[in-house]
Amino acid sequence: MEKCAKDQKELKFYIHTFGCQMNESDSERISGILTASGAKISDSPEKSDLIIVNTCAVREKSEEKLYSYLGNLASLKKSKKVSIGVVGCVAQLYRSKLLEKKPFIDFILGPDNYHRLSHILRNNQGEKFISTGWSPELHEIPHELVFRKSNISAYLTIMEGCNNFCSYCIVPFTRGREKFRHKHNIIREVQSLARKGYKEIQLLGQNVNSYKDPETGEDFSALLKEINHVDGIEWIRFITSHPKNFSKDFASAMKEAKKVCHQLHLPIQSGSSSVLERMNRGYTREEYLEKITFILDLMPNMSLSTDIIVGFPGETEEEFQETLSLLKEVRYTNIFSFRYSPRPLTAASREKDTVPFEEKKRRLIELQGLQKKLQLELNKSQVGCVIKVLCSGKSKKDPHIYTGRNEGHQVVNFKSQKNVTDKFIDVRITACGPYSLIGEVSP
Ligand code: SAM
Ligand code: SF4
Repeated sequence: MEKCAKDQKELKFYIHTFGCQMNESDSERISGILTASGAKISDSPEKSDLIIVNTCAVREKSEEKLYSYLGNLASLKKSKKVSIGVVGCVAQLYRSKLLEKKPFIDFILGPDNYHRLSHILRNNQGEKFISTGWSPELHEIPHELVFRKSNISAYLTIMEGCNNFCSYCIVPFTRGREKFRHKHNIIREVQSLARKGYKEIQLLGQNVNSYKDPETGEDFSALLKEINHVDGIEWIRFITSHPKNFSKDFASAMKEAKKVCHQLHLPIQSGSSSVLERMNRGYTREEYLEKITFILDLMPNMSLSTDIIVGFPGETEEEFQETLSLLKEVRYTNIFSFRYSPRPLTAASREKDTVPFEEKKRRLIELQGLQKKLQLELNKSQVGCVIKVLCSGKSKKDPHIYTGRNEGHQVVNFKSQKNVTDKFIDVRITACGPYSLIGEVSP
């Protein structure tokens, strides 16, 4: 890493984050470590002495976007003195190869190595630095150090890594095996967030339903129950649940913990049992649908979302049609859908990528078109209702329009004469589109 000319106390840093909520949460933790070391957060790469790029390797496209962003940073580095660190999943995957390919990078840190950042800031004398090892226990970053973007809704990582090895997925290779935070540390963090005025907690992990306290073995239901008792917290969410670990008992625990939102992201990936088997998901279409039935029997207002991959190796037209029929059957509030892309080290990448790019594209368009229609129907059924919304701020285009999310995690844009940022507010829904609800503050 290039030694910064400035005193460390004045060092300004900028973090660019690719990928999911997990990466957003990691970037908040990285910001905390850097600010605790005396550095100051900056709002642009041009004004910074240190730029950290937090990367995502889940799909080829996210990697392509990273290389284009790094190209811009290479140009910036020619015009000013700046240190560049690449962290996260792509860093873990390519390690020194990334440095060979992009020699302007100063340091590389894998997801299990962020605690080393303060050491890099203090001791680095200009040499390149790579740290991508694994430790058996999860590194607790003191929760006071986490630098959160929101004042009202907090991401809170409860576990790292994944043991599932879905045949398409790179995550077990880039984030390692499952490791869990101690329940008492999680609870202390939630209590501290409640004292600061946070109202919503979003628990994060690749497979939260496999959570086990490392000491006591207490499970995710026990954790939810205890968070539910923390005064001040009003909404609790979690992501991601793996269908194979989602039990009837857990659904009952979810219903009992009254602050847990009736919203569930339960990734199916494909509606075809034969594709699910090739994906190594550990459940069939029928088993998944049974779970949806008991969830809706217990909590009929549950807002469901999912992830879907189209064009997995060998996916036939009939198998794809089964995914479309599943969407019609479940009627999700929202879906995240992707074209399959082969990833290094995964089992599926050793299979022939049989579905041509244009066909994957067609399937994705058809899938998204169907979901758009289904979502519009669902959203229309909410017009005329008054719903509770947690407002995250003003719309950039119109100062009288605010935006937020309801319990089902749907986007709600609404008119308000008063500033209601960071507040719960009742909104009367007056109109909708497929991707958002529109309304006004209810008197
Ligand atoms: N642990 C979570 C789960 O099991 O759903 C999230 C995993 S991953 C970060 C998020 C989503 O990316 C997956 O649910 C899957 O739909 C998608 N994904 C993962 N690998 C992919 C690949 N090789 N090609 C396309 N989509 C992929
Ligand atoms: Fe990837 Fe499967 Fe683990 Fe999710 S459960 S992170 S899709 S391997």
